[in-house]
Amino acid sequence: MTANQPCICLYNTLTRKKEAFAPLEVGKAKLYTCGPTVYDYAHIGNFRAFLFEDLLKRWLIYREYQVTHVMNLTDIDDKTIKCSQKQGSPLSQFTAFYVKAFFEDIQSLNIQPANVYPKATEHIPEMLTIIKTLMAKGFAYKGQDNSIYFSVCKFPDYGKLSHIKVGELKAGARVCQDEYTKEEAQDFALWKAWTPEDGDVFWETELGKGRPGWHIECSAMSMKYLGETFDIHCGGVDNMFPHHENEIAQSEAATGKKFVNYWMHNEHLQVEGKKMSKRFGNFYTLRDLLAKGYDPIVIRYLLLSTHYRQQFNFTFEGLEASKAAVERLRNFVRRLHEVEGERSTGKVAALTVKLEACLEGSLDDDLNIAIALSSVFDFVREMNALLDANLVTKQEAADVGGLMIRIDGVLGIIGKVEVEVALSRAIKELVQKREAARKAKNWKEADEIRAQLKAMGIVLEDTAQGIRWHKEKTA
Ligand SMILES: [Zn+2]
Repeated sequence: MTANQPCICLYNTLTRKKEAFAPLEVGKAKLYTCGPTVYDYAHIGNFRAFLFEDLLKRWLIYREYQVTHVMNLTDIDDKTIKCSQKQGSPLSQFTAFYVKAFFEDIQSLNIQPANVYPKATEHIPEMLTIIKTLMAKGFAYKGQDNSIYFSVCKFPDYGKLSHIKVGELKAGARVCQDEYTKEEAQDFALWKAWTPEDGDVFWETELGKGRPGWHIECSAMSMKYLGETFDIHCGGVDNMFPHHENEIAQSEAATGKKFVNYWMHNEHLQVEGKKMSKRFGNFYTLRDLLAKGYDPIVIRYLLLSTHYRQQFNFTFEGLEASKAAVERLRNFVRRLHEVEGERSTGKVAALTVKLEACLEGSLDDDLNIAIALSSVFDFVREMNALLDANLVTKQEAADVGGLMIRIDGVLGIIGKVEVEVALSRAIKELVQKREAARKAKNWKEADEIRAQLKAMGIVLEDTAQGIRWHKEKTA
């Protein structure tokens, strides 16, 4: 929020360089991330992108930016129509099911929700406005099939993001499908005229009976909520061409302004060294992994722990290692809560300063998470040595605990422990209060506290060693 806000460097695909992030408005960051196409459960490759974006957003927030995050839901495109027909469900009912599943998935991965999740089907008028402007300005034309296409050769900047060669563009070559060959620039559909395959999915508009192309959806929804020019647009590298290239073309041709200042793309994910594909039997949704008994936070850790611009190889061995890493962090935080010591070496303060500097330096450097995490584990190792020797005071432990909460605001890994520890503290206090009430023969208060604990799922037992408590088993 301040003039001396630390500098975050981000790799901008548009310039192929790391650049200091300079937002349009001081202290604010406007972020658009391409959301899921809701025709199936999202797979771990999708979640790699969503987790990289979550890290970016959390880091901007840590650096005191006020972030406005918009993520669209593609609830109409070639795939959603085809799959809903296959299932025999109306499109809206079919996509609503996968929208719900998507929200459940991101919640279990502890991904912070966006400010807005616009649905494509609810933004048809905004898309029509852009298409009409493009036609009026001569950037779009009606094809023989009555669909409306963007004329790539009319936009001289076409190819500036993906570096695709437009010189090789075949005159009149055009494509109606949402996804098409990655090597060729072609005129692409902004509005698709209705065909019998679309069934009952269409809008009657001044542009004719039909439906939008996929690319125009993101231009319309991002500009509606973030303005004609905004700060950061993210997505997977496979969306760079044609999707993002087309977003730039249609948005900039329509407004005459620069669309996005920073484009950020995460690299591909492989599984056990191979392209993830149903054909190879190595295709996993988040739900597949949860069904195998993995903790979603362990999956979060694994997908987050490799730098976003590196290709990531997902392995089950990696998942096991992540499980151990998450456990090490949680155990450390639990341990901090147990410190009662009074002896200090004075080293803790120096270690925290070192950790903060290293963590901030590495994440400011294009989200270098691998170095950030190794600095956290170095710190934990050195702290554990001091804890073993009983050389940490209660105050120092509390300070370190506070730092870990701040760091976890970025990582989103430890969270549960804090809740767990806070809960057990609250329970301990209630149990002590009840004991005091009993000693004072205040039976009414003692009973009330017992009832309160019961409502929290806590069962009390009288033992020879005094009162014990445990959590009621839930079915
Ligand atoms: Zn998009």
